[in-house]
Amino acid sequence: MSYVDEVIEQVVSQNPNEPEFHQAVKEVLESIRVVVDQNEEQFRRDALLERLCNPERQIKFRVPWIDDKGQVHVNTGYRVQFNSAIGPYKGGLRLHPSVNIGIIKFLGFEQIFKNSLTGLPIGGGKGGSDFDPKGKSDREVMAFCQSFMSELCKYIGADTDVPAGDIGTGAREIGYMFGQYKKLRGLFEGVLTGKGLSYGGSLARTEATGYGLLYLTEEMLKCHGVDMKGKTVTVSGAGNVAIYAIEKAEQMGAKPVTCSDSTGWVYDPDGIDVAALKEIKEVKRQRLTEYKKYRPNSEYHEGKGVWTVKSDIALPCATQNELDLEDAKMLVANGVIAVCEGANMPTTAEATKYFQENNVYFVPGKAANAGGVATSALEMSQNSERLSWSFEKVDGELKGIMVRLYHNIDDAAKKYGFEGNYVVGANIAGFEKVVDAMNAQGIV
Ligand code: NDP
Repeated sequence: MSYVDEVIEQVVSQNPNEPEFHQAVKEVLESIRVVVDQNEEQFRRDALLERLCNPERQIKFRVPWIDDKGQVHVNTGYRVQFNSAIGPYKGGLRLHPSVNIGIIKFLGFEQIFKNSLTGLPIGGGKGGSDFDPKGKSDREVMAFCQSFMSELCKYIGADTDVPAGDIGTGAREIGYMFGQYKKLRGLFEGVLTGKGLSYGGSLARTEATGYGLLYLTEEMLKCHGVDMKGKTVTVSGAGNVAIYAIEKAEQMGAKPVTCSDSTGWVYDPDGIDVAALKEIKEVKRQRLTEYKKYRPNSEYHEGKGVWTVKSDIALPCATQNELDLEDAKMLVANGVIAVCEGANMPTTAEATKYFQENNVYFVPGKAANAGGVATSALEMSQNSERLSWSFEKVDGELKGIMVRLYHNIDDAAKKYGFEGNYVVGANIAGFEKVVDAMNAQGIV
């Protein structure tokens, strides 16, 4: 049996009931097979893939907190410090009832390669909790965040592990966590990114993942002779990534016509009104049912359905495995040219394969949504030098990073004979740098 297949089998048997982690490991190892085969003897001797697939450390802890009525609740907190070969662990904190160790491991594993692709010195990590901020008062969210940080603060620091936001963890949650870290450790340092502008946050961090997704998409399409202008775009999600993807797509002259949340989706034939979307989601924290009040011409549908709308470009920006084979078939039948992932692993393995077989330009999240973590690393730089850069400077750096990233994954795919396969390109390009650093640092 080949070394890759052996390690995949091992990962599946040693990590039972973690299907998302298996899926992520399989995707990466399958696509770096060509590199592994060329170095099989050395990689086997050094157990390189086993070390890559086993987190350096995983921390699981109890998070007790008191609600507004005096009732105590207990959630579970996680931080997986996956790989620090190229820099301090970096990766977001997800707060969602679906969170478990398998989800955090899949995200942490993906983060290793994504962070490597940014070209910046950041290792891979991820964390979170099964706490659901939805429907909780600000005081309850604060109580949870303080309790969560009381434990997490023992394991993180500006030069060791720097968490950030993710699903359910926005500016409010980061603020409460930062306050608690500062109180307990007595350090005002860049230990979290996604901070508010008044206490060390970076301009353009809020916009970065969505904007970065569009910078990469535009560059890729340009290289294939396609102009973004006038293209119809379908977007899923209505959170941080989706909102700023929609905003940048509109600035580029494209027309995003959909968005969604976990209960339903909106189709606006005139193009999504970003100001209305921000008001509903960022200010009032309401459901998408409200959108019709701002745009009577739009349609609201319960359930799932964004991918049934005809579009040239599809940008899944909600959550993992939200775009399946049936959706992929519908998108291809409707003539989609490109699918670029704003979320982490939103496309199932079968759907990805279908896009590739049908010549759709497909860019995986670890490349397409890397603008968020890249800008987080720029926030770390600003904190270290105790300076704040202008929006234009950060946005300019972000654009440069995403354009270079695209060419990096395109070149890696070409180098190994997989031209146009950006899944292979991203995994190989991300892997090569991490492996080089792991080899240089010995067996640790
Ligand atoms: P948000 O919490 O801001 O938004 C998530 C959006 O997706 C919401 O509209 C939410 O709807 C919807 N959603 C979440 N879970 C589900 C589900 N199970 N089914 C259907 N819809 C769902 O998160 P972000 O925008 O920050 O993150 C979105 C994705 O992008 C995630 O995969 C995240 O890991 C990834 N990502 C985020 C980065 C960032 O900088 N924020 C960076 C890189 C990747 P509802 O409000 O109803 O729950």
